[in-house]
Amino acid sequence: MLETKKRYERKVIFLSLLLLLQTWSIAVFAQNTVSIKMNVDATEASRSLLHTSLTIPVKPGPLTLFYPKWIPGEHSPTGPINDMVGLRVSARGKQIPWRRDDIEMFAFHCDIPSGVNVIEVAFDDVSQPGTTSTAQLARIKWNRLLVYPRGISSDAVRVQASLKLPAGWKYGTALSAAREMKNDLEFKEVSLTELVDSPAVIGAHFRKVALTSGGTLHEMDIAADSPAALEIKPQTLVGFQNLVKEAPALFGARHYRSYRFLLTLSDYGGSEGLEHHESSEDGVGEKALSDPGQLLDLGDLLGHEYAHSWNGKYRRPADLTTPDFEQPMKGDLLWVYEGLTEYLGKVLPTRSGLWTPENFRQSIAAVAAEMDNQSGRKWRPLVDTATAVQITYSSPRAWMNYRRRVDYYFEGLLLWMEADVLIRSHSQGKLSLDDFLHKFHGGQDSPPIVRTYTFDDIVATLNEVMPYDWREFLNERVNMVAPRAPLGGITNGGWKLVYNETSNEEIKFNEQQKKFRDFTYSVGFIVKDDGTLLDVSPEKPAGKAGLAPGMKVISINGRGWSSDALHDAIAATKTNAAPLEFLVENGSFQQTYKVDYRGGERYPHLERDPTKPDLLSEIIKPHAH
Ligand SMILES: [Zn+2]
Repeated sequence: MLETKKRYERKVIFLSLLLLLQTWSIAVFAQNTVSIKMNVDATEASRSLLHTSLTIPVKPGPLTLFYPKWIPGEHSPTGPINDMVGLRVSARGKQIPWRRDDIEMFAFHCDIPSGVNVIEVAFDDVSQPGTTSTAQLARIKWNRLLVYPRGISSDAVRVQASLKLPAGWKYGTALSAAREMKNDLEFKEVSLTELVDSPAVIGAHFRKVALTSGGTLHEMDIAADSPAALEIKPQTLVGFQNLVKEAPALFGARHYRSYRFLLTLSDYGGSEGLEHHESSEDGVGEKALSDPGQLLDLGDLLGHEYAHSWNGKYRRPADLTTPDFEQPMKGDLLWVYEGLTEYLGKVLPTRSGLWTPENFRQSIAAVAAEMDNQSGRKWRPLVDTATAVQITYSSPRAWMNYRRRVDYYFEGLLLWMEADVLIRSHSQGKLSLDDFLHKFHGGQDSPPIVRTYTFDDIVATLNEVMPYDWREFLNERVNMVAPRAPLGGITNGGWKLVYNETSNEEIKFNEQQKKFRDFTYSVGFIVKDDGTLLDVSPEKPAGKAGLAPGMKVISINGRGWSSDALHDAIAATKTNAAPLEFLVENGSFQQTYKVDYRGGERYPHLERDPTKPDLLSEIIKPHAH
């Protein structure tokens, strides 16, 4: 098929620019380019209803339109195709029939009549209430609002987007505005890759907070359910300002032109954490800037998503780097993409002062204990939790301890911490994982580019930093079934993982947020506040006694269910030799189970080991302020 001269020239210019600037440098696989106009009407966002219309140049004959399926950062075919409704394809005011592909639910076939060179595609995006919008704010994810001609690389599709806001609402996005008139915004044309990587937040109560004065722009764009929620305490603001100093210092260079934290504060808008090159979507509770527990959680989220600008967006596993939103992604290196980021997501807020050293240790203790007590680790190697990301991410809650879920995050954290401690101790403190990050993620400052890597590249760069059998180190921890979690980062870092009756602050926060109680390290279950067992560890006393997820506790030792009664009964096992007696409901049947347990309440903590140097405290010291 011949291309028109105009399109050919545009492609040549576009390719030359790509080569010159190396911007958005995923290779251009397709032979075509296309320029799409997209008009998004968000005036009904508070009804969880967005309208979109697209103008797409076409040629007569068969055409397949594709709705983005594999969403970067989600590592899975999670494009919300069920939320696309009201699809209409037309040309010159006449409807063009469409037919969904029999196998590929995200593809729509139509026949373009002769003489037609442009079509209009319109549809609505209806999201589940409480996922992307509230009465006062919304997250605008462009991938939910478009289709494009199938088979064209997302770098070769150019999109000029416009956005109509509800009256009085404001917006934040990494996209540059070309025109702005009251509630109507028009953005400069960008590639489809860049567009999908540059979502917007919009809201009635909105605030922009500069995190740097002069130089590269770093900004927090906050939409909240109330004006009061936008308030930031001076000390918290200093922490955010430190964060945008600490991360660039950690990596040695930046790979963005500007960076925006797109923060949404709502108890109804759904939690969110999605990384982009030049922004991140950070969705948390309405009081996240004032409630101490939620603020700690926010520090973790911001540190994590920001670190992704380097680890995940700039350096990306080759298997996760795809030319469009149709090619499947492979998740086998997610223990780097997410695991290393999870580690940095705890180191960075501590270096920035958003977390105290004790917050860091409580969090590490909670992660280490959870991984070390996964019964699923006896059948499932870590890599399989990553390879199977398409199913592990949405893994059901029941028997989770036996399944193993997305452990590539948390066990990934432990193995990267162990690597950090190993480099520090072998080099007598002269080197650290920071040196690896400088080599792997640093280099020269640049606009957004993607540099892919493989397992071998990780091993080679680690060896450049410090010669060691890194291949075997990683192979053992990633690919092999291991009955114990990799705790070397803790034990060689000068600390011990211990259990005692004092609650762990991160576990306690999770209990409050998710309305359950976590007895994983004593009797071995997690129970909802209404007495329903969410998960049971098969190898712990409750599991051995026959309790199972879904059963509902009616009474403990003859006393009616309450979580306090359960706490008291478990605490009393230290002095009371009799087994715990649970009366539970299993559907419409009731049964009594005797749980043989003597250890009292148990929660994980890190305890200093004075026989070894305290490397963990070295890791979390401020470096850039
Ligand atoms: Zn992540």
